Amino acid sequence: MTHFLLVGAGFSNAVIGRQLAEAGHQISIVEQRGHIAGNCHTERDAQTGIMVHQYGPHIFHTDDQRTWDYVNRFAEFKPYVNRVKAVSQAQVYSLPINLHTINQFFKQQFNPQQAAQFIADQMDQSIVEPANFEQQALAMIGADLYHAFFYGYTKKQWGCEPSELPASILKRLPVRFNYDDNYFSHRYQGMPKDGYTDLVANILDHPNISVQLNTPYSAEMAENVDHIFWSGPLDAWFNHRLGRLGYRTLDFERITAASDYQGNAVINYCDADVPYTRVTEHKHFSPWESHTGTVCYQEFSRECGPDDIPYYPKRMVNDKALLDDYVHAAQQETGVTFVGRLGTYRYLDMDVTVREALEVSDQVLASLANKQSLQAFYHA
Ligand code: UDP
Repeated sequence: MTHFLLVGAGFSNAVIGRQLAEAGHQISIVEQRGHIAGNCHTERDAQTGIMVHQYGPHIFHTDDQRTWDYVNRFAEFKPYVNRVKAVSQAQVYSLPINLHTINQFFKQQFNPQQAAQFIADQMDQSIVEPANFEQQALAMIGADLYHAFFYGYTKKQWGCEPSELPASILKRLPVRFNYDDNYFSHRYQGMPKDGYTDLVANILDHPNISVQLNTPYSAEMAENVDHIFWSGPLDAWFNHRLGRLGYRTLDFERITAASDYQGNAVINYCDADVPYTRVTEHKHFSPWESHTGTVCYQEFSRECGPDDIPYYPKRMVNDKALLDDYVHAAQQETGVTFVGRLGTYRYLDMDVTVREALEVSDQVLASLANKQSLQAFYHA
């Protein structure tokens, strides 16, 4: 039996802990916050009883059968399709960009072929390999749609010019020439009926797993264990000795309203002069429940300071260079494996996090069976 210490009780370590526990190993988890599930944490609002995504909207979606089967083993998932609305210049549109968005925005009645041809004419064909977010947008949808829906929102969300950001951020969103307004293109999509914290609690519910909340990691904890899984920020493991990687954090401001405030779970505000990025009305994430009241939060993005909760790894040019140095340092470490969005400094969705945690667990179990030492980085 190997004794593992897992730092952080989000999806990564819950899945790794469960897989290793089921193989007979001993798992101790320390979590500095007072709850499990990391930034996926959900909790019922005291006033209204509505399930609130405390750290912003989370919708589970995946193409991966193993991941979908895994999460469904631990929670009942209700069908849910994320349909986002976006406000630009006092008009309400649907996102991701689809035929309705295009026709409404350009005041046209295009069919799919006409729209595809029209957008092809809008695209900047000179950009062959987009080097950043802005080039990706200009090459994919052209300047008008980019400025209406992406420029202002992205500046607010990331605090910099879109030309400083990687193209991969925009590639998260599809562009469609039909009326499909599903925000995601994955085969499976849903919402855990009793929230994400309940799902993670069920994953962690195993006799070989112990979880200590309100317990920050300290170096002496490493003395009594065989190996550590670290899901905190990569640079925090090294006490930021090479410098600080950039993250964005979020602030939420509660809106008080009597009943249905906005008629949809998520509405984005794409103009730069609106200070928040989006408003989430949480009861619309649980359409199978019935609530007379409502709970809404405006979401504000800002630079993450030393005492803030990191949400988004920025991966700007200077972060990339520093990241290379940290990955190099991580590879020299023994006795620790870095996992998850913060531990590997990547913009991972929940489904990818679960999938990678399953793969890491497979590799760890194979290494233990072959008496090989465990790697620090599986997914650099
Ligand atoms: N984005 C945007 N306008 C929108 C929605 C998204 O400019 O109305 C850009 C923005 O840069 C954002 C990125 O697309 O960070 C990815 O959006 P997504 O909805 O995946 O962000 P998340 O829900 O993870 O915050």
